[in-house]
Amino acid sequence: MTSYTGQCLCGDISYEIAGAPAMAGVCHCKNCQRQAGSAFSTLWGVPKANIQLRGQTPTVYIDGATASGSEVERHFCGRCGSPIYSIVPGQPDMLFLKTGTLDQTEDFAPQFHVWCDSKQPWVELNDDVPQMATQG
Ligand SMILES: [Zn+2]
Ligand SMILES: [Zn+2]
Repeated sequence: MTSYTGQCLCGDISYEIAGAPAMAGVCHCKNCQRQAGSAFSTLWGVPKANIQLRGQTPTVYIDGATASGSEVERHFCGRCGSPIYSIVPGQPDMLFLKTGTLDQTEDFAPQFHVWCDSKQPWVELNDDVPQMATQG
């Protein structure tokens, strides 16, 4: 079976994923920009049952001021600050992995873009996948 590995910047938190992700998307919401310190988040939807987390327990920030209005749990490394994954209330059995933490980041290929209303103007989307103004 395919598997994937990754870790935070300092290595205190690492993970292994069994099997393919359920979905791959890019989020251009303002809060992802802030948390990533960058232009967007690249996300894999991974069933919780398919991921093995190792090392330190991530620190959780409850993000209650999201564009969708729902609370997002943002899990990150308490030592180096790398965002690891988010959990949204509508999909409690799934985590949304920040794929910049993968060992092989080239395994990520987006299937859609969400919150394009707040996309940075210099980011040009050339991929032939749906672009949704909000959460789609
Ligand atoms: Zn770390
Ligand atoms: Zn977002």
